[in-house]
Amino acid sequence: MNILVVNCGSSSLKYQLINMDDESVIAKGLCERIGIDGSKLTHQPAGKDKYVVEHEMPDHTVAIKLVMDALVDPEHGVIKSTDEIAAVGHRVLHAGTVYSDSIIVNEDVKRVIRECFDLGPLHNPANLMGIEACEKAMPGKPNVAVWDTGFGMKMPEKAYLYAIPHEYYEKYSIRRYGFHGTSHMFVSGEAIKFGNLDPENAKVIVCHLGNGASVSASIGGKCVDTSMGLTPLEGLIMGTRSGDIDPAVVQFICNKEGKDVNEVLNILNKKSGVYGMSGGVSSDFRDIEAAAKSGNHLAEVALDAFRYRVAKYIGAYTAAMNGVDAIAFTAGVGENDKATRKAICEYLGFLGVKIDDQANDVRGKNAVISAADSKVKVMLIPTNEELAIARDTLALVK
Ligand code: ADP
Repeated sequence: MNILVVNCGSSSLKYQLINMDDESVIAKGLCERIGIDGSKLTHQPAGKDKYVVEHEMPDHTVAIKLVMDALVDPEHGVIKSTDEIAAVGHRVLHAGTVYSDSIIVNEDVKRVIRECFDLGPLHNPANLMGIEACEKAMPGKPNVAVWDTGFGMKMPEKAYLYAIPHEYYEKYSIRRYGFHGTSHMFVSGEAIKFGNLDPENAKVIVCHLGNGASVSASIGGKCVDTSMGLTPLEGLIMGTRSGDIDPAVVQFICNKEGKDVNEVLNILNKKSGVYGMSGGVSSDFRDIEAAAKSGNHLAEVALDAFRYRVAKYIGAYTAAMNGVDAIAFTAGVGENDKATRKAICEYLGFLGVKIDDQANDVRGKNAVISAADSKVKVMLIPTNEELAIARDTLALVK
């Protein structure tokens, strides 16, 4: 049974067609510059050459149509007809406080996605366009929404409520939601399996360290706390996002620079993080590391601060759970950067964390990287958000 996974951004659409019998990816691809001149589809069928289609894509409906054409193309396709797709799983950013579990899309679900446009202004409209495009292209085919906020919705009140007047939660649902939910769910689950941990009680901290970065704490796979908040701006230092700062900084910059709140928030989202700290070297961690190595002091401090912040969150989440059984690293930096994993773990000697340098010399595959006598299992678990979405979709339509 094949599941199509769709992840829509405002001008992009990523997809994977997954054969759920063996969970293999039979084709994947990307539509870029939707609604902009020069749109193109890059389609990669497994075991065949890449196929690029340069074609106008005024909207997501046209993009989905081109994806369908590519999937059934006699030469570059992987299926004979769209009847071979059982269902479509969509990554959807925000369901407010309404949904946490994945759900088959109906008119109510679409209404909730629409009502949450202000909570996810960049993503929710695009996610809804993707769903409606699939409805048009494949009438009657089930579409499933898998929420990026779903994992964080299981947090207890003491973790998700901000210490602001309660009326704002009641009126506007302002709370910590957390993001990268499918990744945290997938990686914490895989860590429990791969590490042979108690599925009901294992205390796991997942460090999703990519351009966007977040940490979660979960017990038996159920989220206890997570570092991103109402929006993905809170928590760790990221490629271009500041993560935690004193909110008064916003007012201070507004006053000193004659900017409004929106402009400063834009700076905190797009011009801060290691990019801003390093004086504009790059938002890419490889560039930051190269600059730090060649003696750029600000890049060195940015990298140190990034790692230090991750370690502080691990400390805090260990306290939140009164212990930790496993720490799992994932995403671009977490899966590829052994120096960062080691540097973070060096802060955690007090927990009895010990990294095995040889075991840590690994990338992109499940591995235990801690020493045999480490009190906490440290692992590398590559994330696979598409597979997590496909599994949830299959479970709902089977
Ligand atoms: P996102 O999905 O948030 O865009 P990814 O999870 O793809 O991010 O991670 C991208 C980040 O991973 C980039 O900043 C990149 O520099 C970093 N990265 C990839 N490989 C390495 C590596 N070998 N060492 C350090 N950083 C790396």
